Amino acid sequence: MKLVRIALAVPLFQFFDYLCPLEFTPQLGCRVIVPFGHQQRVGIVVDFPENSDIDSKQLKFITALLDEESIFNDKLWKLLIWAANYYQAPLGEVLFQALPVKLRQGESPIEKSKIFFQLTSLGHEALNMNQMGVIHNNALKCTQKQIEVLSTLAKEEVEKGNNRLSPSILSTLQKKGYVEIKEKYPKQLTWQQRLADKNVAHFEDRLKLNQEQALALSQLVFQQGFTSSLIDGVTGAGKTEVYLQFIEQILNKGRQVLVLVPEIGLTPQTVQRFNARFAVEIDVLHSNLNESERLKVWYRAKTGQSAVVIGTRSAIFTQFYDLGLIVIDEEHDASFKQQDNWRYHARDLAVMYAKQLDIPILLGSATPSLESLHNVKNGKYQHIVLSKRAINNTALRHFIIDMKQQRVKQGLSRALIERIQTHLEQGNQVLLFLNRRGFAPVLLCHECGWIAQCQHCEKPYTYHQKKRSLRCHHCSSQKPIPRQCGHCGSTHLITTGLGTEQLEEALTECFPHHHVTRIDRDSTTRKGVLEKHLQNIRQGKSQILIGTQMLAKGHHFPNVTLVALLNIDNSLFSLDFRAEERLAQLYVQVAGRAGRAEKYGEVILQTHYPEHPLLRTLLSQGYAQFAEQALLLRQNMGLPPFCSQALFKAQSRSSEQAENLLKQLLDYFNQLVQQKSILGLQILGPIPALFVKKAGYYRWHLLLQHQSRQQLQQILTYFRQDEPLKKEKVRWFLDVDPIDL
Ligand code: ADP
Ligand code: ZN
Ligand code: ZN
Repeated sequence: MKLVRIALAVPLFQFFDYLCPLEFTPQLGCRVIVPFGHQQRVGIVVDFPENSDIDSKQLKFITALLDEESIFNDKLWKLLIWAANYYQAPLGEVLFQALPVKLRQGESPIEKSKIFFQLTSLGHEALNMNQMGVIHNNALKCTQKQIEVLSTLAKEEVEKGNNRLSPSILSTLQKKGYVEIKEKYPKQLTWQQRLADKNVAHFEDRLKLNQEQALALSQLVFQQGFTSSLIDGVTGAGKTEVYLQFIEQILNKGRQVLVLVPEIGLTPQTVQRFNARFAVEIDVLHSNLNESERLKVWYRAKTGQSAVVIGTRSAIFTQFYDLGLIVIDEEHDASFKQQDNWRYHARDLAVMYAKQLDIPILLGSATPSLESLHNVKNGKYQHIVLSKRAINNTALRHFIIDMKQQRVKQGLSRALIERIQTHLEQGNQVLLFLNRRGFAPVLLCHECGWIAQCQHCEKPYTYHQKKRSLRCHHCSSQKPIPRQCGHCGSTHLITTGLGTEQLEEALTECFPHHHVTRIDRDSTTRKGVLEKHLQNIRQGKSQILIGTQMLAKGHHFPNVTLVALLNIDNSLFSLDFRAEERLAQLYVQVAGRAGRAEKYGEVILQTHYPEHPLLRTLLSQGYAQFAEQALLLRQNMGLPPFCSQALFKAQSRSSEQAENLLKQLLDYFNQLVQQKSILGLQILGPIPALFVKKAGYYRWHLLLQHQSRQQLQQILTYFRQDEPLKKEKVRWFLDVDPIDL
């Protein structure tokens, strides 16, 4: 009897063996239905073992075979196997996550056929005779209504279930043999066939490249097979134009293209730019799609019906008929890293994928990650620099306002208010960046200093005035605003610190003749509101914009000439070694919103620490110089990208239990090092996470670090084989190449 080994969608490093009835001939990667406990579940065939550890009497049969051939194409299958190993994730989880939900649930990937009604030849004859009134045989006589239906069907076929035609009349006509049903499958032409002999792009829209762009494009097109290139160019340097023209070349070869963008970078503007340029089929995978729509895109890409797929992180799992290029825009963005379940990095996976497929990959950013810059230095990536803005090359001017010497009103210094005034008087728009929604980050008692805080996270609640509530931004719990101090009962409660709501209020007061638009998650929850706000800004109806992170990317505001950053001082002193890199990226990205049209742009940073080395380098010498220094520092400290890390995270309602689990793990690794004579492994911890408590759970970390990625991988493989935590009840996760500490 044939055995099959099945992976299920469970977070376990375990497969399950079943017997295969003779009439089924499954292949690797096929989905099957299997009995599992009292349930029937969808599984994926991962092996055909010779024999099983399970007693043959206890083995059960597969209930059904869902696919005739693997649901994964070879290339993606290989990538997923590699990824499961690299990220030390259960293969079942990896495989299932790579499929649209409908396929995980066992639905057929093949587009359903449609049923149509059409006239038979007898039907045509009957219609003619009735219309001409030459009926010799009474049996052929039709009622007026029947004639109407017949004449509709003579003109076109009508889909079943369409309410235009009466079902009872149709059924009578069917019985008479005048009407028959016909099953049709939707046409599956690849995009090249659909396009026939039209051009892939609208030539008239293609911009004439400037010298740097032309050089960049020629560097790209002369490469054969796999190459990764980093396009490193300031915002507005025309990176996207280079992508578009390179994409066009790939499409001209008849191949498909995958474009990955950050979560907040996937704006209608982005998609529109692709649609405007190309005459081909472009599909978008964004969070608003429902599951049927997702399945459809999956199917279209796999059968070659779509030419370009644009999507966020998980779009990396799209299967293609013939993928010819991957583009990753804003490659430094943290949203490419999946932060739960299996924690992959879509950019890193994409590079691996491109290598396996032997196709080029393009990473673009105005603020490349230190990892990618390091890969440029060690020769893995080709470096393509676009140093100037494509249209308006007047450099941005950067200013620092030292808050220590300023009179401050609700977070705004006198000097900043004056600059805003000047820009508004010139008929321009200004953008204020404040990465804190709500009215104020803290509500406290003026008498005794008590702070209203979330018990689940032990962090202050944010005071939301508009919603009349206190909200925790770490766990999203909320409660009504208290009237009294929770400690001394005083009613004298005050807020401290600045949130976007309060800033909006302050600016409305300062500039009563101008309109203020606030864009953050609270102001844009209702569908369509964000678009409306953006439209108001583009049409100039609103002159003062307040925004959080949401505004830092993907949006272009040609008339914004002043960008100000408020309250970023916290990030200057973070314990996370990546905080400086993030801050520098954020600064440059936000600054990039200024002066995109033919206007000169100004960036103002309010800070209490104008002497901080990060700010000095960044503002006077730019991001590239900052990155250079930061890389040197990382090298001296032996931090990534000069070493590899793997982070074990434990969480429990009891802090002690979480810590103990990691202590046990520490013992295990210490022993392992001795047993296998491992050199160079650094183990840090257990230490409490930076946010030690979140949503009621205490979180502890144990960090492994090694200069060699391979060695660390080897150590993790030992760990997985030994399973020292197998029986543990405390929840734990492993994050390979973590980006958050
Ligand atoms: P990036 O992606 O680097 O931010 P974009 O490709 O969006 O830059 O280009 C910024 C602006 O410059 C866009 O309005 C674009 O139309 C324009 N642009 C880009 N390249 C050229 C060019 N070669 N000639 C004229 N305008 C250009
Ligand atoms: Zn009090
Ligand atoms: Zn909380």
